[in-house]
Amino acid sequence: MHPVETRPRPAIAPRDKGAFDRFIEFTDTPSRNRPGSGKPTFGGPSRGIVHIVGAGPGDADLLTLRALRVLRQADVVVHDRLIGPEILDFARPDADRFYVGKAKSRHSRPQAEINALMVAQAAAGKRVVRLKGGDPFVFGRGGEEMEYLLARGIAVEVVPGITAATGCAAFAGIPLTHRDHANAVTFITGHAKDGEPDLDWTSLANGRQTLVVYMGVSTAGTVARRLIDHGMAPSTPVAVVENGTLPTQHTVIGTLSGLDALIADNRIAGPALLIIGSVVNAAAANCIPALPLAAAG
Ligand code: SAH
Repeated sequence: MHPVETRPRPAIAPRDKGAFDRFIEFTDTPSRNRPGSGKPTFGGPSRGIVHIVGAGPGDADLLTLRALRVLRQADVVVHDRLIGPEILDFARPDADRFYVGKAKSRHSRPQAEINALMVAQAAAGKRVVRLKGGDPFVFGRGGEEMEYLLARGIAVEVVPGITAATGCAAFAGIPLTHRDHANAVTFITGHAKDGEPDLDWTSLANGRQTLVVYMGVSTAGTVARRLIDHGMAPSTPVAVVENGTLPTQHTVIGTLSGLDALIADNRIAGPALLIIGSVVNAAAANCIPALPLAAAG
């Protein structure tokens, strides 16, 4: 199978800033049905709050309205590495911004310091937005941060985000649970401290399912070998989606047995997701445009 490169989508339409801003003002207006009153918030009783917010996989258009709303109200924004300026610029210009990003094996701030920073800011009565890539509860340590904050009496709200799996699949045209191919989709992490993720390979290798591997680029060869050893066909199609949903999105397609080479040959370096299963064929056959969409439209 040849590697296939997908091009980023064209912009849908220039945004009508006036209408958009009017809409956001509307959503900012408190009412019975609007957030600010009814949204689930845990903990308290401090005046400050930490909103643990999913920023989606990259494209600013994939923020939820709730994320946008709390970001615009934040006094303090504590953000990770993969959050782009387009999203951060929704914060108030006078909001304090703390970059606490983590590159693998190059932690710019230890988790303990991030936790302490959030507690200090919220305890001082600030509205803190803890902005995390994708969804905060999917491989995002959002759960650990929530536990830490609640244990110290800080009010917490969690705002979901589009996780990399669904964002990348949509932008690469891969229908994760297409009925002709899969009855299940499983999200796994390829990352482990000793290089070998502790997973139930037998159940992952068998069954009519799609596997989505987060943080799996450096361990892709091991993951592929384990799956093949436990019964998955070496010819199983695999997609690697790098920088998904961003203008730099790069998708390559190959097979499980060739996964290592696919990653090396295409110099995959950015954040990337592995999608393993025959749904990848559905995309290759039906969805991935031969020409950039912009040229067609
Ligand atoms: N909470 C995040 C995942 C954090 S783990 C979420 O829900 O998406 C970080 C991993 O997510 C990366 O190693 C990569 O595998 C994946 N990832 C995040 N953003 C991505 C993107 N734009 N394109 C491809 N993979 C991405």
